[in-house]
Amino acid sequence: MHKINMMTPLVEMDGDEMTRILWKKIKEELILPFVDLKTEYYDLGLVHRDETEDQVTVDAANATKKYGVAVKCATITPNQQRVEEYSLHQMWKSPNGTIRAMLDGTVFRTPIVIDAIKPAVRSWEKPITIARHAYGDVYKNVEIRTQEAGVCELTFTGESGQVIRKTVAELDGPGVFQGVHNKESSIRSYAHAVFTYALSVGQDVWFGAKDTISKTYDGAFREIIADVFEEYRDRFEQAGITYFYTLIDDAVARVMRSRGGFIWACKNYDGDVMSDMVATAFGSLAMMTSVLVSPDGVYEYEASHGTVTRHYYRYLKGEATSTNPMATIFAWTGALRKRGEMDGNRELMLFGDKLEEACLRVLDKGIMTKDLVLLADPAKVSKEVLTDEFLSEIRGELEKTL
Ligand code: NAP
Ligand code: MG
Repeated sequence: MHKINMMTPLVEMDGDEMTRILWKKIKEELILPFVDLKTEYYDLGLVHRDETEDQVTVDAANATKKYGVAVKCATITPNQQRVEEYSLHQMWKSPNGTIRAMLDGTVFRTPIVIDAIKPAVRSWEKPITIARHAYGDVYKNVEIRTQEAGVCELTFTGESGQVIRKTVAELDGPGVFQGVHNKESSIRSYAHAVFTYALSVGQDVWFGAKDTISKTYDGAFREIIADVFEEYRDRFEQAGITYFYTLIDDAVARVMRSRGGFIWACKNYDGDVMSDMVATAFGSLAMMTSVLVSPDGVYEYEASHGTVTRHYYRYLKGEATSTNPMATIFAWTGALRKRGEMDGNRELMLFGDKLEEACLRVLDKGIMTKDLVLLADPAKVSKEVLTDEFLSEIRGELEKTL
């Protein structure tokens, strides 16, 4: 059979536990039979990260910058329990955090929407993508709690020697104080990543902040993002998409009444909170995809969920599991399609589309993994399947279209 050719390699980052098992099955069943796959492979499994003192994560991020597209399997972020479980030399940092910092990237999370699972919000017809600004604000705060009356001041000392001083509050008893910051460079990079991604998917961007109350701080976000947008205005017009700023309260209200199908750019805290709300309202973590985009247009695709540890322990005991591979498959299709787009390889782009359509047709037939059966309209479920059977159903559908 003719296999689809690839010109440039994709950066492939392998991972841990159940998703590492899924990774191999997805490649063998759905990709290697059809694509003459070229990847530069990095093993980000915890064992190999420990062996290389996490150098492999840095190498993978550098390769991603070089080639422009990567696909990543979920990986363990070590905690004390993992240090013992894997006899680690160190509690290595989160690979996603390392890669995000090296790419100066923004994470976009989008649910895979299917007919059998109705969003909790009735008006939502299309997915809402959340783009969370992932630097600063309350996540890099400095806090003080006091036990007596006193004055709290905010002081800035410039390189030039300039000093700006403001009274935060003068309190007549115990209280709490918080200092937060952000960087103009980070807000600019974020805006570039959001507008670049919006053009690549052809969707509007909404951004909300509280600049009526926080005139300087949130006001700076509004101004800087509007300033960066000027560089994109013409391309947005050509693409027929818009950038829309509104107060965060108004944004929240409009989102609930919307039909979906746009990118919701959020400040760090709003993105943290709203992504959990949007994900839950759309259904399942196992149906949420994630892409990291750098301001200069480098893309790294992955699933939003973790390594599904509980299923892995059952797998190790020899039990077959019903782990949902959708988000991991869509990470592959996203990366293959983007690779195709960058290389002008239409056949590869089409393959990405066809594989996604095959997955959706299997779900439309009511064939689902356990997590989806629990969420779906019972009238639309025909069969609950284990992972292997789900993958072979997808392969069957895919083969019909190739
Ligand atoms: P998780 O792996 O996402 O799993 C949490 C639970 O959600 C699972 O136990 C399972 O519920 C359900 N679930 C998630 N994905 C599923 C799928 N594909 N199919 C079916 N059910 C699914 O999160 P976690 O247990 O908090 O974290 C496990 C490990 O993953 C941790 O070591 C963490 O560091 C890592 N992690 C990595 C990433 C990443 O690399 N991007 C992200 C998050 C977490 P049931 O057990 O009830 O079936
Ligand atoms: Mg959260």
